[in-house]
Amino acid sequence: MLRRALRLGLGRGLLGRGLGTWRGDSTLDWDGKVSDIKKKIQSVLPGGAWNPLYDTSHLPPEHSDVVIVGGGVLGLSVAYWLKRLEKRRGAIQVLVVERDYTYSQASTGLSVGGIRQQFSLPENIQLSLFSVDFLRNINEYLAVVDDPPLDLQFNPSGYLLLASEKGAAIMENNVKVQRQEGAKVCLMSPEQLRNKFPWINTEGVALASYGLEDEGWFDPWCLLQGLRRKVQSMGVLFCHGEVTRFISSSNRMETASGEEVTLKRIHEVHVKMDRSLEYQPVECAIVINAAGAWSGQIAELAGIGKGPPGTLQGTKLPVEPRKRRRNQTQGTWKWTMASSRTRCGPIWPR
Ligand SMILES: Cc1cc2nc3c(=O)[nH]c(=O)nc-3n(C[C@H](O)[C@H](O)[C@H](O)COP(=O)(O)OP(=O)(O)OC[C@H]3O[C@@H](n4cnc5c(N)ncnc54)[C@H](O)[C@@H]3O)c2cc1C
Repeated sequence: MLRRALRLGLGRGLLGRGLGTWRGDSTLDWDGKVSDIKKKIQSVLPGGAWNPLYDTSHLPPEHSDVVIVGGGVLGLSVAYWLKRLEKRRGAIQVLVVERDYTYSQASTGLSVGGIRQQFSLPENIQLSLFSVDFLRNINEYLAVVDDPPLDLQFNPSGYLLLASEKGAAIMENNVKVQRQEGAKVCLMSPEQLRNKFPWINTEGVALASYGLEDEGWFDPWCLLQGLRRKVQSMGVLFCHGEVTRFISSSNRMETASGEEVTLKRIHEVHVKMDRSLEYQPVECAIVINAAGAWSGQIAELAGIGKGPPGTLQGTKLPVEPRKRRRNQTQGTWKWTMASSRTRCGPIWPR
């Protein structure tokens, strides 16, 4: 599939569009050369405003093996690991499409950047343990030659969870799982809690769990910028635009049990360019939905949720934008969670 996408893309003329965006590492060379040629042409032609070579460097490439929809922490993290795990440098072309570089509504920018291991599922605990190691050693992962090291402002501080009589047994069980997975968490009686945090009202509290290591908070904006800087240095391409449409093809196939199924595959993504009515088609082999709270809409563009009720295609992706609040009280963070459906982060699952 990758090879087919590559072949299709290479069949087109280079000069027609985005010379700069075609090649990851030599972007600067090409942009520089094109700019020199333009200047020379302009200097010998009458009418300096006339631009014989329309600058197309802001356009996405005509093809990319992988198109990632959304340049938040999830999209950039996927881009990073795709490039990091590729067998040969430049083997996979990755394009990140982001519609809002101010990230004004993106969860990543709004996030508190808290990390904990106090979960009930082993998978979430393991993800968080891996993430904390990633954060602690961020410059081993995200260093870029000649750029200053990142300072995520990681502030280690344990999460404190409180349980009533009704929830005490669940908390005890969760902590057992957390410890089995390697997290450093302790259980506290109301008395121990009062001794450690004399300002807490322990009325109605039967048990507490407290993170002793690897929990705390950091600057999520810094992580986002660090990821962006790194993936750009690895050859990932970026495009400022909005994914508005997928073009797919269908193939009928037979399963091992003889059942006939139709396989739908996206082979083209339409990107509406920023402040423009035009869209650019990008041929691709794989699309990654990293659109955060808008992931449900992207899934719908791909036809997910539009099939007959009760089937996989008829099942909507239950992710939609919801309002969430965070309150700061005397230097400690307290926040209300509106819905588990808006939580889609890969690095810090709850
Ligand atoms: C108030 C708040 C506090 C939080 N606190 C914490 C915390 O303490 N710890 C924790 O682990 N998590 C926290 N979270 C959750 C965490 O921030 C998210 O899980 C994580 O940032 C999700 O990242 P993302 O990349 O999936 O989404 P986002 O950061 O939302 O990125 C998605 C991007 O997709 C883009 N996009 C959408 N549609 C399109 C399209 N059609 N075309 C192009 N681009 C598109 C958007 O512009 C956006 O930039 C918090 C979230 C909020 C809202």
